[in-house]
Amino acid sequence: MDEGKGLSLYERDQQALSKMSFLRFFPLAVAGGEGAWLIGDDGRRLLDFSASWGAASLGHSHPAVREAVNRALSSQAGASHLSSANLPAVELAERLLAIVPDRARGRVWLGHSGSDANETVARAVVAATGRPRIISYKGAYHGGTSGSMAISGHPVQQGVPKAPGLTLISYPNAHRDDGAELAGKAALAELETLFAEQVPPDEVAALFLEPIQSDGGMVVPPDGYFQSVEALCRKHGILLVSDEVKVGLGRTGRLHAYEHLGIEPDIVVFGKGLGGGLPVSAAIGPEAIINHAAAFSFQTVHGNPVCAAAGCAVLDTIERNQLARHAAEVGRHLIARLEGLKQKHPLIGDVRGRGLAIGVELVQDRAGKAPAKTETALTVFRAFELGLVVFYVGVNSNVLEFTPPLTLTIPEADAGVELLDQALTDVAAGRVNAAALTAFAGW
Ligand SMILES: *Cc1c(COP(=O)(O)O)cnc(C)c1O
Repeated sequence: MDEGKGLSLYERDQQALSKMSFLRFFPLAVAGGEGAWLIGDDGRRLLDFSASWGAASLGHSHPAVREAVNRALSSQAGASHLSSANLPAVELAERLLAIVPDRARGRVWLGHSGSDANETVARAVVAATGRPRIISYKGAYHGGTSGSMAISGHPVQQGVPKAPGLTLISYPNAHRDDGAELAGKAALAELETLFAEQVPPDEVAALFLEPIQSDGGMVVPPDGYFQSVEALCRKHGILLVSDEVKVGLGRTGRLHAYEHLGIEPDIVVFGKGLGGGLPVSAAIGPEAIINHAAAFSFQTVHGNPVCAAAGCAVLDTIERNQLARHAAEVGRHLIARLEGLKQKHPLIGDVRGRGLAIGVELVQDRAGKAPAKTETALTVFRAFELGLVVFYVGVNSNVLEFTPPLTLTIPEADAGVELLDQALTDVAAGRVNAAALTAFAGW
């Protein structure tokens, strides 16, 4: 409660903060957190299956991040790397260079967010290659700044101007398109036709891909599809950019999500989980691109030593605690449990994912696959009431997204499944009041 005004934390938030940056699904007000648990301002402990959209990659208040941040702040090496070098930023860059493929091992650009990193890459590939065009995917989310929205295809950004040289292509979706094989073939044929008829491939600077299309609906691409895309890109000298912002750095059960695709990107973009809850992003790629020109793309506190120290601690912890392997194990268990729920709940149309990047698509009926949009919003609302934090994504707003901390344990995974089971039961039985949703626009 606020001193004197008698308002709750959530009500004060509603009165003071702009809804332009809200994506709210229920009235969650957080006072603290520990591991995979959030502590509400009412003292309630909630199991966090989102980890702030994957940003709290090690969970909340991880000791390694806390220690690194405290150390960096105890004698702060400036606030930025714009006009001076600092050790955490240099160490973070050196570590990132060590984990990307040879072809990307040139330079590291450090930023605050997936948005500024993707925007910078989009500008740099065009400026450095002299090719005016970019290809990305319908449903893709590459950020929320003008330049990153300009290369995205997510419907939440309808009406936002696109880059003049942008072409959006279909992301293969096995559930929507009647199986992985057909989906992959159709999507590849679309790109080949595009190159043959409309978009001269030698005018294309880069193709941006999400190794799992996350905000578009946690869509896992068919095996082999991106290898064919890579071959086409190599043939025409088009740079492959892997946007690992949400699903990279251990989340899929491998260090890099692109490893599942059998490809080697030229440029790798990290954000969200890289900072373990602090704002830091990175774009790593060939010198000719990522070292294009001095003062080409910077913001004042880029290369902040405190945020960079957090990034180093995250990379260290993922490696030392073998969190990619852990995510693979716990993810396998979680997906099996969710498949079990699918047997019981007709609302569940599809369960998919890799490691701890999991989507559960809710449908009106399994044959027609019509999106169960309202039921999805009601399910996350009810789950919150029961003690589970999970949001939804998808071009039709009907995919529950699970991106829990990489440190999630099997008992915690089981506890989350029990809560989701109850939420789905309550929604199907009509026990959740749709009027509760009116204050929550979601997306
Ligand atoms: C979230 C996201 C971004 C943008 O990151 P911000 O931190 O919101 O700027 C870019 N790409 C992908 C794949 C994302 O999921």
